[in-house]
Amino acid sequence: MSPVFRFAPSPNGYLHLGHAYSALLNFDLARAGGGRFLLRIEDIDTSRCRPAFEQAIYQDLAWLGITWEQPVRRQSEHLAEYGAALERLAATGLVYPSFESRAEIARLVTQRETETGRPWPRDPDGAPLYPGCAKVLSQAERAQLLAGGVPYALRLDMAAAVARFGDLGWTELGQGPDGKSGAVGARPEAWGDVILARKETPTSYHLSVVLDDALQGITEVVRGQDLFHATSVHRLLQTLLGLPEPAYRHHRLIRDTEGHKLAKSGQAVGLRALRAAGATPAKIRRTIGVI
Ligand code: GLU
Repeated sequence: MSPVFRFAPSPNGYLHLGHAYSALLNFDLARAGGGRFLLRIEDIDTSRCRPAFEQAIYQDLAWLGITWEQPVRRQSEHLAEYGAALERLAATGLVYPSFESRAEIARLVTQRETETGRPWPRDPDGAPLYPGCAKVLSQAERAQLLAGGVPYALRLDMAAAVARFGDLGWTELGQGPDGKSGAVGARPEAWGDVILARKETPTSYHLSVVLDDALQGITEVVRGQDLFHATSVHRLLQTLLGLPEPAYRHHRLIRDTEGHKLAKSGQAVGLRALRAAGATPAKIRRTIGVI
């Protein structure tokens, strides 16, 4: 079976050198292994994604010399499929609605920290874990809030999910942020009760990425080390949904001269700006060390 790779950017800004590294690595690995290379547009966050950024992705990748199969999967066109997967997850009894806004959660967390004098646990990205208040609502209370049209997020009851499917892991072909490779134990509990969907969007990054990787037959997930810890959640969702496990290779991040991860707003490393300043695709490859 020939390997299937993908590059899955979100059109919420212009691509930079970090994206070029990831896209070229996937493309080169696919070519070297006689495999396929797919492009996926991760555009479920309609408040941040723009058609102009999507067009720029196609132009910048083509300029780099990358070619991809058609049609391109655009997540915004598949909401019904995510909704169906969400229903399958809900049928496991491990999903519940939470009704607090982000600001309310932040206030609750500060309150708990003041009460206990200890920092509230944070997820691997540094966000406080959901304090779990909505988990204890009765069926009647939930029904009332839902009927009243209160906005909600659907969350995974992580403790219950881990109790059922605790012993998960993956084979890391690249390296985690702490140099881990080989057999890695998954720790989805580090993320707490993750959001799977919201009232207005029947999906989330985690849910759509695992579903799409399976639907597109992706066999190799090659992406930045910033997503290493997210793989724990992805392995759990794959198990809950009965989806196959791809191979994972997390790659180093391209950093700026101060050692920070590149941001989409950092125009100095944007591919368009570099091209306008006279850079060539060969120069970009040399800069990021993909020859
Ligand atoms: N869309 C994600 C991003 O732009 C990447 C998702 C993935 O590779 O799993 O960061």
